[in-house]
Amino acid sequence: MIMEVTIFDKILSGEIPSNKVYEDEDVLAFHDVNPQAPIHVLVIPKKKVATFTELKDRPTIDSGVLFQKTALIADKLGLDDEGYRIVVNCGENGNQEVAYLHAHILGGRKLTWPPG
Ligand code: AMP
Repeated sequence: MIMEVTIFDKILSGEIPSNKVYEDEDVLAFHDVNPQAPIHVLVIPKKKVATFTELKDRPTIDSGVLFQKTALIADKLGLDDEGYRIVVNCGENGNQEVAYLHAHILGGRKLTWPPG
């Protein structure tokens, strides 16, 4: 499948700068440019997946690594005690803007429910 080159591909390659908070062999995490909470960080897997729907065709380890690293980064951001929200927008109805799988970490304030 041919995947479009997204802004997150360019951040990962260094073509576009980001405000990086964490990087290892599996993931890159950086601050969202349009934060929706005092802490709003995006986590992307280095092994590219375009959307959440594609995870069903991937080895379980791909989703496991993304979730575990996202939990690790949330801890590093100091969010474990107060809690936080993980959001993965998917497709048109999910309002996914960037076709590169990413987990939003939102924290630092009491978040409302249900989402808009
Ligand atoms: P989504 O709607 O789940 O695809 O979210 C895409 C997110 O990427 C939005 O929250 C944007 O604010 C964020 N975003 C877009 N461009 C950049 C960028 N260059 N650096 C950091 N975050 C970005």
